[in-house]
Amino acid sequence: MNVEHLFDSKKVVYSLEVFPPKKSSSVDAIYNTLYGLRGLKPDFISVTYGAAGSETQRIKTGEIAALILSEYGVEPISHLTCAGSTKEDIRAYLDMLKEKKVQNILALRGDITPDNPVKDFAHATDLMRFIKEYDDSFNIIGACYPEGHPESEDFAEDIENMKRKVDAGCGHFISQLFFDNNKFYEFCDRVKSAGIDAPVEAGIMPITKANQIERMVTMSGSSVPSGFSKMLSRYCNDDNALMDAGIFYATQQILELLDHDVRGIHLYTMNSVEIATRITNSVENIIHSINNEDK
Ligand code: FAD
Repeated sequence: MNVEHLFDSKKVVYSLEVFPPKKSSSVDAIYNTLYGLRGLKPDFISVTYGAAGSETQRIKTGEIAALILSEYGVEPISHLTCAGSTKEDIRAYLDMLKEKKVQNILALRGDITPDNPVKDFAHATDLMRFIKEYDDSFNIIGACYPEGHPESEDFAEDIENMKRKVDAGCGHFISQLFFDNNKFYEFCDRVKSAGIDAPVEAGIMPITKANQIERMVTMSGSSVPSGFSKMLSRYCNDDNALMDAGIFYATQQILELLDHDVRGIHLYTMNSVEIATRITNSVENIIHSINNEDK
């Protein structure tokens, strides 16, 4: 199923994200994770793609996406990055997705590093156009950045890039994680003013471990509101308290976003069924109620 159609019938789409396990010894763990996440009845589950990972590791993304569909009956999205890939690499991956009936692709550039230099694709839009030419029935999703992509000069450049993505066939966006909802509301206003109608899902990352704090903030470039920062420093030496506080903060973020009529919530689960369950249990009735308003 093309996940873009979900936005025709639902006011709020609720989705989850997982990553492929790095060690082959932890492959069994992904079965347990997916089994647990399936029980939360997400609208779809997306699977990340290691831009600089090995070939085997990258193929795992497609295999896990296929498993989500065939074994767990949930619609999958395969992430796919293009920096570092040739057209042949991408064609081979698309062949696999097609054979396994995975229809939805989050098409990304990926980070450019000395180990992952640009080959045949310079931008995500090059990949989007290539996918559409390969087979128009693939559904394309794109990434967007409420606080701006680190390489962009200004917000206007990001909005221009979103327009290019729409022109290249992208009908739905998933946002970079953010901790300050006001930044997301301002971003949505800019998107709307630019005439971009494609739905934007808000990316929510619960911070529940001390070692995630610096890594996630540096990686995403997201700003940290002072209340959140105080909470993190207060509980960073108490694992259980930090877990409760991180789950509470993410849940509160989601409830406020729902109050502001956002079109979708995309929860970065970090493969934790417990965290995803605690958050989903707190918001599912509200999402259900919103989706049934005016019916
Ligand atoms: P692009 O859209 O190509 O944009 C990158 C930069 O180039 C921006 O500054 C943009 O303004 C500029 N640009 C784009 N097109 C042009 C143009 N034609 N001319 C001039 N400038 C241009 N990474 C992974 O490795 N694996 C994943 O699974 C993964 N999943 C992600 C999921 C989400 C929801 C998000 C938000 C990010 C994800 N990433 C992932 C990270 C992503 O690969 C990086 O953020 C990467 O740096 C940019 O990817 P992009 O698709 O947004 O790139």
